[in-house]
Amino acid sequence: MSSHTEYDHFVDGEFVASTSTERIDVVYPYDGEVWASVPDGTASDVDRAVATAREAFETWRETSPSERRETLYAVADALDDHAEELGTLETRQNGKLLREMEGQAQGLGEWFRYYGSLAETDRGDTVPVENKDGQLFNYVTHEPYGVVGAITPWNSPLMLTTWKLAPALAAGNTFVHKPSEQTPVSALRFAEILRDETPLPDGVYNVVTGAGETGAVLTNHDGINKLAFTGSTATGRKVGEAAGRALNPVSLELGGKSPTVIFPSADLDNAINGVVKGIFAATGQTCLAGSRVLVHEDVRDEFVERFTERAQSVELGDPMDRDTQMGPVAFRDQWEKVRHYIDLGAEEGAEIAFGGDQPDDLPGDCFIQPTVLVDVENHMQVAREEIFGPVASIITVEDEADAIETANDTDFGLAAGVWTEDMRQAHRVAGAIDAGTVWVNEYRTISLRSPFGGFKDSGLGRENGAEALNEYRQSKSVWIDLSGEVDDPFTMG
Ligand code: ADP
Repeated sequence: MSSHTEYDHFVDGEFVASTSTERIDVVYPYDGEVWASVPDGTASDVDRAVATAREAFETWRETSPSERRETLYAVADALDDHAEELGTLETRQNGKLLREMEGQAQGLGEWFRYYGSLAETDRGDTVPVENKDGQLFNYVTHEPYGVVGAITPWNSPLMLTTWKLAPALAAGNTFVHKPSEQTPVSALRFAEILRDETPLPDGVYNVVTGAGETGAVLTNHDGINKLAFTGSTATGRKVGEAAGRALNPVSLELGGKSPTVIFPSADLDNAINGVVKGIFAATGQTCLAGSRVLVHEDVRDEFVERFTERAQSVELGDPMDRDTQMGPVAFRDQWEKVRHYIDLGAEEGAEIAFGGDQPDDLPGDCFIQPTVLVDVENHMQVAREEIFGPVASIITVEDEADAIETANDTDFGLAAGVWTEDMRQAHRVAGAIDAGTVWVNEYRTISLRSPFGGFKDSGLGRENGAEALNEYRQSKSVWIDLSGEVDDPFTMG
């Protein structure tokens, strides 16, 4: 486990050296061990990968539905076989719990099976058209865009890659992937497994590693036909701007400041578990973190007391240890950012009911206690900006109308939680909250069959579910004239 590995980019089925000697270290956040490095990719590295993907597109787009299904099923089997290895790699990169990363890796095969099945069972349409007394035949097919440029973050690296890659390949595209500079190794190993253990042709999935600048080069490359991005809203805007300039389609899955509303009728045991799940699981490092907790005034005191007690009991430790409940923050800059927001919350007038410190008995410099901020008001920065750490901002609300208004008073709209035993209230509030996902009496559940994505500044487009296939393909309408006559060239008909 302590060996140091130097990786290269993965293009056209092989590891290829960068044109630059600049490298980026990969660190295990638990103890700070540097265990690998990858190239900081250049514009010519990106050129090479895009040219490869373009060439591979010409053959991949022609594969039959059953070939595509078979290939994607083989990818699924390979993922299943390597779930433990890939999960461990992911934990070594971002410090998230092994049980979470391994669990994610074990589930990813299903995405490839689902989109493989859609590739096989997909059909076009024939469309009744009235023009020329019905003597025209119209049909609609689906065409891939071409080369997808995908940029992913560090928090769930392979899962967020899969959400893009599986539908993109199913639709017939090829792929150039720039993983996060914190977590590039799992993508490289995944690419190698695909080459060695599946019939996926070389050049269909390529990985170029590097920092944000490499991402910007890929984003602005004129050989890209579609962009897919998960990350911060600030970077997402840049990706969106580049897509706008090139008139490329883009899907963006961005940040959140998701509200969780607790009403008086809620089962408080469940609600507390759900809030813990929403903000302390994964050390709060998920886009869908339930970071604003809106508690009805009638249950506020009891909730705060019990939730704070619960925060104190969370077991921090080595993410590789299966009893650990919360690991470190993924890297030191992120730790500084989280700490900065906790201080800011206190300056703004919130009270730190618990947390905010690095416990003495843990190694490295990336641990932070689960943190409970109470008396937060929705205008404060800790209620408006994404912290991406284990910091719950608790806001008191007066009634249902206040809860809905406060929930929606945000730039974001990724997700929301509602805790109530009143069925009518559950439906009312779920309907009124502007978010791409609303959970009632649960939090942080996802399915490959159900769409995921954001309203407002939380994104554009949807991942997962059948509709995600349409993010990676365009319709073509074909008209065949059966009348044998073209008359009046000056009238549209
Ligand atoms: P976070 O690490 O908070 O998710 P980012 O949104 O910056 O922050 O990172 C997500 C991904 O976007 C990473 O792979 C990163 O390298 C990449 N990235 C950063 N800046 C840019 C940029 N200007 N253009 C394209 N990709 C970028």
